[in-house]
Amino acid sequence: MSKQNKKLHEYLTSLNLTHLRAVYSDVSNRAVKENMDYESYLLELIEHEWLQRRHNRIERMFRESKLPLEKSLQTFDMTRLPKKIIHQVKLLCKGLFLDQKENVLAFGNPGSGKTHLLCAIGQELIRQGKRVYFIPSVMLVQKLLQAKRELQLPRLIKRLSRYDAIIIDDLGYVQQDRQEMEVLFTLLSERYERGSIMLTSNLPFSKWETIFKDPMVTAAAIDRLVHHSTILELNISSYRTQQAKTRKEADQNQNDTV
Ligand code: ADP
Ligand code: MG
Repeated sequence: MSKQNKKLHEYLTSLNLTHLRAVYSDVSNRAVKENMDYESYLLELIEHEWLQRRHNRIERMFRESKLPLEKSLQTFDMTRLPKKIIHQVKLLCKGLFLDQKENVLAFGNPGSGKTHLLCAIGQELIRQGKRVYFIPSVMLVQKLLQAKRELQLPRLIKRLSRYDAIIIDDLGYVQQDRQEMEVLFTLLSERYERGSIMLTSNLPFSKWETIFKDPMVTAAAIDRLVHHSTILELNISSYRTQQAKTRKEADQNQNDTV
């Protein structure tokens, strides 16, 4: 390695431009061959580093998000959804609702695809550089309670505020006691107009008193969530049931033709 290259390596290392360090020699050789002007050469080098950093950042955000990777838009059959919801989903994937701190509430029968759909939207948002965090509601409540016991609730809520969206999966799935619901209500209140919540629930609002116990608290929780929100009503049959039916029919047809 020439003295010049050695110096360059040192500088690039100390500036943390590790990707640029790996590619500059190839790019320089090509620049000479192709008679590139100085600014195009510089642009290409910087672009390499920029792309790599963006890639790393998105990977890191995917890891942090705890999103199940298999629940993506690519693996989701959109044709099962009513037209109106397809339109809503396309809009949500653009991510504007995060800037407006709006919420997304997905309702519907078990198996209708609520979790998959919100995870898929979450993945699209991460690709646009947004920060998303996925957590089943039961786990979230346990986490909040533990933090409260350790007098760390404000700290946890602050940490969660770094995320543009928190996906709370399956709200109301198991009955929880009053104390558990109090901490959840605290989080909802803290995030109101400050950060988006995306949640799925099998329970329509009319049954939310079983979640929040007290009618006033229930009304207040619904009010905060709904005020700025998109509601996705997945009134469709269970995907799993439909798959099983289709398989059975296919088997039947095969038997008939044999
Ligand atoms: P819910 O949260 O409404 O109970 P899920 O999102 O967990 O439903 O969906 C149940 C299963 O069916 C999951 O394995 C999911 O990946 C699959 N699924 C649901 N809807 C679709 C769809 N439209 N396309 C592909 N898979 C789907
Ligand atoms: Mg679900």
